[in-house]
Amino acid sequence: MLRPDLLLQPTPKGLYCPPGDFYLDPVRGAVERAVISHGHSDHARGGHGAVLSHPHTLAIMAARYGENFAKSTQAVEYGEVIDINGVSVWLTPAGHILGSAQITVEYKGLRMTFTGDYKRRFDPTCARFEPVDGTHIFISEATFGLPVFRHPPTEHEMAKLLRNIADFPDRTHCVGAYSLGKAQRMIRHLRLAGHDAPIYIHGALEKLCAVYEDAGVPMGDLRPATMDDTSKAAREAFRGQVVIAPPGSFEGTWAQRFPDPLIGFASGWMSVRQRAKASGVELPLIISDHADWDELTDTVREVNPDELWVTYGREDALVRWAMLEGRRARPLRLVGYEEEAG
Ligand SMILES: [Zn+2]
Repeated sequence: MLRPDLLLQPTPKGLYCPPGDFYLDPVRGAVERAVISHGHSDHARGGHGAVLSHPHTLAIMAARYGENFAKSTQAVEYGEVIDINGVSVWLTPAGHILGSAQITVEYKGLRMTFTGDYKRRFDPTCARFEPVDGTHIFISEATFGLPVFRHPPTEHEMAKLLRNIADFPDRTHCVGAYSLGKAQRMIRHLRLAGHDAPIYIHGALEKLCAVYEDAGVPMGDLRPATMDDTSKAAREAFRGQVVIAPPGSFEGTWAQRFPDPLIGFASGWMSVRQRAKASGVELPLIISDHADWDELTDTVREVNPDELWVTYGREDALVRWAMLEGRRARPLRLVGYEEEAG
């Protein structure tokens, strides 16, 4: 069989496929042809020649970078097999955010699957991760690739948030959530838990929430969390309400406009107590769009590849674990994927 690094090789621009002459998630500069796993800005950059991706990812890129974010685009549904210069390419759900996909490339009998970012637990805003059968080389992320990272059940964290809303009706519940993926997921989880009241969103979320709505993910009654009218009455209207905004917006004075704000933050990083403390978060919610340690190791066992490649994150621990299991494994040390979202 073909040597794997002849089909996909790590380069400073990202993973490159020589026979197909395309890159997977190129992060350094523009390339002629890119296959993109999902819309987070550390994977999906604008300015490439041809971009192949899931239609929802293309919609996300258009919302963020404008309609002309690439010279040409090709929308590919999950499971649809495309031929690029003799290399078969297809997408399989990654369960990370709307449109997120694992990218499988196959050539001369060698099948390699690149996960992009992924998680295994339920997310009401996107298709669930599916393991790709017959994968010879499994190329996994490892953002939370340390045994200390074990995320609690989502229901547990959502119950904490709902209890806070019920217990403190006089405060404004400000939830920090990454603007693509986490914010829409938090809104959807709240809706599923019966929170039908208006949810106020930061301007940075508006376009992306509209993309989710268009993709058939209902967001319910969303209203802008802006305050042209700074009167006391306008401010008071936010009391007891839920406001969702990118985490950075709560670092400055933005949140102080709301009456008695109670600041939460939904992120896998909230499992690191010092991080939660340092960020001044009153209500840390450990809700992640990445696989935790158990999800990573369970997935490697399930896919059971001939060899595991680890792209970024805590590569060494996952590689060491795999070797102790008697698996072939190597770290790729891809750079530039600083995770837009945890
Ligand atoms: Zn991502």
